[in-house]
Amino acid sequence: MKLYKIKKSKIDNKGRGLYAAKDIKKGTKIINYSGKIVTNKQVDESNKYDNNKPIYLFTLNKRYTLDGDFSWNTAGLINHSCDPNSQYDGKGLKIWITAIKDIKKGEEFTCDYGFGFDKDYKQFPCKCRAKNCCGYIVREESRWRINKKFAMSKKKLVNNSR
Ligand SMILES: [Zn+2]
Repeated sequence: MKLYKIKKSKIDNKGRGLYAAKDIKKGTKIINYSGKIVTNKQVDESNKYDNNKPIYLFTLNKRYTLDGDFSWNTAGLINHSCDPNSQYDGKGLKIWITAIKDIKKGEEFTCDYGFGFDKDYKQFPCKCRAKNCCGYIVREESRWRINKKFAMSKKKLVNNSR
């Protein structure tokens, strides 16, 4: 049985989210984060990645990035929260979502997107309604190996302006 259901999101009122289909224990692997493996060089050079749309890129290592921006990547529907119940986990070239709390049936899965703090953080307002919500999607702390595209797109803007 799948651990999740797709429904209209309570956080992103224009989009969908993933919800627990049953009670889930902390530490449970919920779903794989699937996508295409691209080289970091492709990310730096392709226009596809040079924009401000919601970000689905995970740097896997020095060479490769996982691009999860595909409609078949169901895990891409998981929304950001400042008080998340799940997190991105990875090994090798694989990424998946793990519960970091006990989650009740019917709760929406949320992760910390981990955007770095930046003067452009206002591009990404957060509507998670958690008590500790700062109003914007900014990571709480640096996370092992996972770097979102946000930092890279800044680098690119700097390059373009030369
Ligand atoms: Zn928030």
